[in-house]
Amino acid sequence: MICTKCGALMDQTGKNTMTGRVIREYLCRNCGHTDWEDDGVALWKVLHDAREEDEAEAAAQAATNAAPEATPPSQKPRTSLWQHLARLFRKEK
Ligand SMILES: [Zn+2]
Repeated sequence: MICTKCGALMDQTGKNTMTGRVIREYLCRNCGHTDWEDDGVALWKVLHDAREEDEAEAAAQAATNAAPEATPPSQKPRTSLWQHLARLFRKEK
């Protein structure tokens, strides 16, 4: 980076990715001017967002795969008609 005050080449003194963007800090050794530039989205932010997308996609796929299991085939009660009648008979007693 070129110093905007004296035109000398500035030294990079720091890099800040806390905001999710790469902020490079520069110091001019010639005149002491400090400056910074936005170097785009930080790598960890890119990876973070990509992982969130993957997780959302995986969750969506899991939901799709789990759908048939989530709704088991409706099973009729195993009690036969005879057992049903027998129960009614016992109640009457
Ligand atoms: Zn300078």
